Amino acid sequence: GDFPIETDTLVIGAGPGGYVAAIRAAQLGQKVTIVEKGTLGGVCLNVGCIPSKALISAGHRYEHAKHSEDMGISAENVTVDFSKVQAWKGTVVKKLTGGVEGLLKGNKVDIVSGEAYFVDANSVRVMTENSAQTYTFKNAIIATGSTPIELPAFKYSKRVINSTGALALQEIPSSMVVIGGGYIGTELGGAYANFGTKVTILEGMDEILSGFEKQMSALVKRNLKKKGAEIITKASAKSVEETENGVVVTYEAKGEEQKVEADYVLVTVGRRPNTDELGLEQLGIKMSDRGVIEIDKQCRTSVSNIYAIGDIVQGPPLAHKASYEGKIAAEAIAGHSSEIDYLAIPAVVFSEPELASVGYTEKQAKDEGIDAAAAKFPFAANGRALSLNMTDGFMKLVTRKEDGLVIGAQIAGPGASDMIAELGLAIEAGMTAEDIAMTIHAHPTLGEITMEAAEVALGSPIHII
Ligand code: FAD
Repeated sequence: GDFPIETDTLVIGAGPGGYVAAIRAAQLGQKVTIVEKGTLGGVCLNVGCIPSKALISAGHRYEHAKHSEDMGISAENVTVDFSKVQAWKGTVVKKLTGGVEGLLKGNKVDIVSGEAYFVDANSVRVMTENSAQTYTFKNAIIATGSTPIELPAFKYSKRVINSTGALALQEIPSSMVVIGGGYIGTELGGAYANFGTKVTILEGMDEILSGFEKQMSALVKRNLKKKGAEIITKASAKSVEETENGVVVTYEAKGEEQKVEADYVLVTVGRRPNTDELGLEQLGIKMSDRGVIEIDKQCRTSVSNIYAIGDIVQGPPLAHKASYEGKIAAEAIAGHSSEIDYLAIPAVVFSEPELASVGYTEKQAKDEGIDAAAAKFPFAANGRALSLNMTDGFMKLVTRKEDGLVIGAQIAGPGASDMIAELGLAIEAGMTAEDIAMTIHAHPTLGEITMEAAEVALGSPIHII
């Protein structure tokens, strides 16, 4: 017999959306059950953010060890044992997924391993290999994440891989074609280029990283080319032929059909929400044609006791956005008035140089009728950037002209991923350029670039003319 197990809040999926929602719901006094069919931590910890950043860091170390001649350092016989890189990457992932388990248990969240499917608006069946169990709940939070899109002409195989496959390679490929110059393709392509792989990026649009301003993506493009990568824009990937130990990819560019050979082809053309195998249609949960679940400002779906967060709802598919929504949903269930506000979601690319953006760009602000100005400050005028020997880049601080309110920032440069946090805080706190300019920033740090950009906005920068 299957006696239902009762819980207050049932969370489906233990990625950065689900596990954060579960912890917050437990902190707010709920009895919480979290169901995960794979590994705790979801895409982000297991096959996304964390392992990709580990590979990127290892690639940097290798690249820097080989090429620091500018600083008077030369090294011979720098070698990489890629299986050890992979093993190290695995330990990083394991520490974090183990940490998530500890946090869930420490908050008395019941962890259930299996695949959840909705029976009705108050119960799910959780299937494991040889059993099924029903759970009833007062509220549910769906956080099932997303999956790489498969192109019909590029069926995944040993040689036609997605991001998960690219993160798991056991040897450094001699060559790789990357279809899609979005952030995942650019990050992974860049990492392998650092390890010595001959990378060819095929991008359909006229620029890679098209979500960022051209001035920013151009720096990344230049750097990738310096590493020997080839970037072919306005290219349309047509088909792939698998050979004995590689692939031949056919693509069209400038109206001509071309071919490129490689060990692997990595397809990174976007992700689709995991909402098709949950029984959502029968519940009447409203979704777009693409399977994106509609939610209100408290992450509530069209069925009022069921919430949805993360990659399965609108907005940028990013881990920190999923976690943010997880907290909102848990708080909404607890009766709080928390609402989502997407104004200050940072977006970061761990490219070289790093790109980061938060809030409005100058153009977006103007398109919305805001009288905005952008103040620019180059990394090359910052002492810390010079002492790091990393001067490629700039910050743009976007303010509202009438009162200097900070409404956005874009950074291309080393440390951009960390620097963007201060700007997100400035936006959230309603600060002006003057507030930032009057804040004492330690010298010599990259953070001074933020202070200097604020001084540019005020018209009186010290370190540029
Ligand atoms: P996921 O992390 O996808 O987790 C969903 C979980 O639900 C999975 O564990 C899945 O097994 C489980 N699940 C699905 N269906 C069921 C079911 N029926 N029953 C039980 N469990 C189920 N984002 C960033 O912010 N920064 C980055 O640097 C970054 N880098 C990335 C690099 C790569 C290569 C990739 C692929 C992604 C990256 N992302 C990054 C995106 C980030 O990983 C996602 O936005 C994030 O993981 C989404 O979180 P989520 O909680 O919505 O879903």
